[in-house]
Formats: sequence, structure tokens, C-alpha cells
Amino acid sequence: MSATIISGSLIASKFREELKQRVKILSETWMQPGLAVILAGDNPASCVYVRNKAKTCEELGIRSEIFNFPGDISQKTLLQQIQDLNVNPEIHGILVQLPLPGHIRIDEVIAAIAIGKDVDGFHPCNVGALVTGHALFHPCTPFGVMKMLAEYDIPLQGQHAVIIGRSNIVGKPMALMLLEKGATVTVCTSRTRDLANHTRNADIVVMAAGKANLLTSDMIRTGATVIDVGINRLPDGRLCGDVEFSGVKEKAGYITPVPGGVGPMTIVMLMNNTIEAAERAKAVALAGGWHSSVQ
Ligand code: NAD
Repeated sequence: MSATIISGSLIASKFREELKQRVKILSETWMQPGLAVILAGDNPASCVYVRNKAKTCEELGIRSEIFNFPGDISQKTLLQQIQDLNVNPEIHGILVQLPLPGHIRIDEVIAAIAIGKDVDGFHPCNVGALVTGHALFHPCTPFGVMKMLAEYDIPLQGQHAVIIGRSNIVGKPMALMLLEKGATVTVCTSRTRDLANHTRNADIVVMAAGKANLLTSDMIRTGATVIDVGINRLPDGRLCGDVEFSGVKEKAGYITPVPGGVGPMTIVMLMNNTIEAAERAKAVALAGGWHSSVQ
């Protein structure tokens, strides 16, 4: 039996309608939410991602400002730009497009972003808060995966989730979010011995390795849920995930496609976080206004 396809494109378009309403309310009652995106260098994939983010902002009514720096930008200039954005009241979210040029100290750049504007959720304080289950912002890609699982009522409590990849932006936060929901979590890396031995025991497999066709049908249990975060470019130019889709979909219970799976959800979650940041800023501004009128 063929698996149910979890369409990220469909779920994302539903979310976009809800988000438009929240932007409308903010814009009519307070101000338009604003997202700043910092891009350093001309990495082609990064340029495409930044363009897509700006396009989605426009579609939802969010103001976006792109700061496009040359690849030889200094650490000091980058940090100064972030400081300016941190105190800009019209900017509610700040995103630094990764990867950054090799000479830039990424950790220092991420840590310079105001915690309340860290809509990617990569600031060490937000990562720490995620560990304790109190994140201010959830990193967008695993957050999108959680929404997809929820949309299809896929049970998590007591389920064995196996994540392939342990990056700071996907694998690790994914593990924390699934743990928080009561799943038993295994994280595998390129050093893991006998990967299939882990994936065959999984109720849910999340692929985030960046290796085309890494997961094949003999590596999963019948009926498993397979989430493919990977994005790989094949020699003929087509995009594919980390899952050998045609074989795995005949054995899995649920599966996400690439393209049209996790990708569209990631952008929508970024928009959600930006709107949430603006809603919080509004609440603070109104509370400040109330105090000053009382005094
Ligand atoms: P990364 O390179 O930082 O990390 C890859 C991880 O996979 C590492 O922990 C590595 O140990 C592990 N790995 C590599 N080969 C492996 C193997 N053979 N067996 C087991 N583990 C292996 O990558 P990342 O930034 O986490 O991204 C992973 C993939 O997800 C990439 O294809 C990336 O393009 C994609 N991605 C997609 C989205 C989206 O919105 N859909 C967002 C972010 C990343």
C-alpha cells in the first residue's frame, strides 16, 4: 500500500491564510511587522532563499528589508548592522542567512541578535530555552516538521523517532522538540554504525543528512512515518531529498515529498515567528503606554 503524502505545500498555504489575518490585525491596530534579512556574499542558494523569504513577506503583508553585503564584509560592520537592527522599533525579526563567509565568527554574530528578535531561534539563549522546553522561538525547519506531524495527527508520545543528522539548525532542535512531546529519540550521524539497524526500529524517521537516496525501503519498518528534510541537487539539475522516494513510499505509512514537503513549511514558520515577535513587541508597547498614562 502506498503511503499518505504529507503535503507541506498544502499545509503551508493554510497557515499563510491564518498568518495574513494576524498581519492585518497588527497593521490596522499598531504597525506592520518587519523582518530584516542579512546576506553576506553571493552564495547562489542563499540568494534564492533570501529572495523567497522576501517574496513570502510581501505576500503576507510583512515589511522586509534585505541587507546585502559583499563577501569580504568585516566582523565589525556585520555586528554594527545587527546592533542597529536590534534597536530599530520597526524591525521585529532579524535573520542572518547562513552560511556566512569563512572569516566571519558565526557564533559571535548569532549571539549579537537581540533575543526577542531572534526569529531563527539560533541564539544560544533561545537554544538553552528550547532544552528546558520554554523556547521563545522554535527553529523554523523542525518547527515546520512538528506542525506537519500535528496536522496529520501522527502520535508522538512513546513513539520511537530516529533522526539522521545532528546539525544545530535541524537535527539537534528536532530531537529536543520530539523529546518534549514524549517521543523516545535516537540521533544518528555520519559516524553511526549500522544506520539501518536504527531506522528499522523507528516509528518516525527524520532525514536531515543532505545525502540523496540515503534512506531506502529496506531500512524502514512497514507503516513508518518518513520526514525528508534533505535538499539535494542531482546532476541533471532536479531537486531531491535524502529518501529514495519511489521505493520508500510503497512501504511507509506517511511520507513527505521533496520538493513540496518540509521546505514550504520552513518559510511559513519563519513568518510565524516574525509575526509572533511583532505581537510581543505590541503587547510590551501597549503595557508601557498604559503605565505612562497611569503615572
Ligand atoms: P549539515 O551538513 O550541517 O548536517 C548533516 C548531518 O548529517 C551531520 O550531522 C552528519 O553527521 C549527518 N550525516 C551526513 N551523512 C550521513 C550518513 N551517511 N549517515 C548518517 N548521518 C549522516 O546539514 P543541515 O544543515 O542539517 O542540513 C541537512 C539537509 O537538510 C541538507 O540537505 C539541507 O539542504 C537540508 N535543509 C533543508 C531545509 C528545509 O527547509 N527543507 C532546511 C535546512 C536544511
